[in-house]
Amino acid sequence: MSEPIVSLRDLRRTFEQGGQRIEVLRGVNLDIMPGEIVALLGPSGSGKSTMLQAVGLLEGGFEGSIAIAGERAEKLASDERTRIRREHLGFVYQFHHLLPDFNATENVVMPQMVAGVDRASATVRAEQLLTDLGLGHRLTHRPNQLSGGEQQRVAVARALANQPTLVLADEPTGNLDETTSDTVLGQFLELVRGEGSAALIATHNERLASRMDRIVRLHDGVLD
Ligand code: ADP
Ligand code: MG
Repeated sequence: MSEPIVSLRDLRRTFEQGGQRIEVLRGVNLDIMPGEIVALLGPSGSGKSTMLQAVGLLEGGFEGSIAIAGERAEKLASDERTRIRREHLGFVYQFHHLLPDFNATENVVMPQMVAGVDRASATVRAEQLLTDLGLGHRLTHRPNQLSGGEQQRVAVARALANQPTLVLADEPTGNLDETTSDTVLGQFLELVRGEGSAALIATHNERLASRMDRIVRLHDGVLD
């Protein structure tokens, strides 16, 4: 049996707001195995984004333990957390955060070059990923020349560009209409499965969640 790619133990996060303490995560435990696609379901405000920020090593302030690919990450210095993010993680957000002055291919090339891949190889991979996502005819369009669904597909290609062991997605189709959302999510899942990555995908949509390998539900600060 291989070891989990993510292991959370007794993860806690409390916000202090105007003298009030809000306990958002109150002891979350979760293991995700390599290649497993997990839906993180919960209503708005239940703490999904907070939990993804913890797993993405994007913010401090958490208690408990977070292991990524067997490495205990919660106490590491920020440059070490950055290294783990680069080596293992890919991110898709609700809004695409693409670079506006660069075309679709360049947006997918960029993170590969940051990771040390040469431009020619990075371009081949970018074009392949975009073509797999049905964007072969939109390679040189800039974000503002693409529809919302197309922008999110570029964001998916960018997240997968460096072959992450784990993709973290925060309501990746949350700002798309239902039909587009179904299509984009289907292509996203197919690509993640094809690449063999694991994924943790936050959504409040039961129908979308049912297409993943496993569902975990966040409420009252814990998973059930
Ligand atoms: P979800 O993504 O499930 O909608 P969030 O993780 O964004 O939920 O937020 C969970 C709760 O934590 C909300 O009540 C929110 O107001 C609160 N919260 C999130 N971030 C902060 C913050 N930086 N300061 C204070 N409260 C926060
Ligand atoms: Mg959220």
